[in-house]
Amino acid sequence: MNVDLVKAFQLADSVFPFENQVDPDPIKEGLDGLRIIEPIHYKGEIYKVEGSYLIQADIKYKYEAKCDRCYETTIKEVSTSLSGRLEDNESVFEEDEEDQDDIIYYEKGILNLDEYILMEVASSIPMKTLCDESCKGLCTVCGADLNKESCTCLDDYIDPRFELLKDFFPKE
Ligand SMILES: [Zn+2]
Ligand SMILES: [Zn+2]
Repeated sequence: MNVDLVKAFQLADSVFPFENQVDPDPIKEGLDGLRIIEPIHYKGEIYKVEGSYLIQADIKYKYEAKCDRCYETTIKEVSTSLSGRLEDNESVFEEDEEDQDDIIYYEKGILNLDEYILMEVASSIPMKTLCDESCKGLCTVCGADLNKESCTCLDDYIDPRFELLKDFFPKE
């Protein structure tokens, strides 16, 4: 959604609440085997404080990916948030570089909120996906899904590191 800041604050005095959803299509390309299940939902407020605008939004989305351990397709829900200070794209400002992370630009009084929501979603996607924290994964020997079945491979298996150590302990 685009927010016309002038219009928004004609109606509300100092707080403009918003709630909407956005199609994840524009960031689809960079997601590498992971699929966001539509729609991305966001809800928040823009505050006008002493002539400048501040924004805060909570974002929720679901994605589908393969578990890193057992490769089963799993769906995960993520909550993240966007917050910062709004700045006119055309205003010249000289501030610390570090500060600019929290700056959200609007142009000619219009804030393209969806664009920032999508950027936040793209950067919040977890590096790792597990179907469950306790996922046992696949047996490295026979490939059995250890969440569903058990195998005896590891019972007979001796870690090569221990195999070496064996020589240090003479047999009785
Ligand atoms: Zn798993
Ligand atoms: Zn096995």
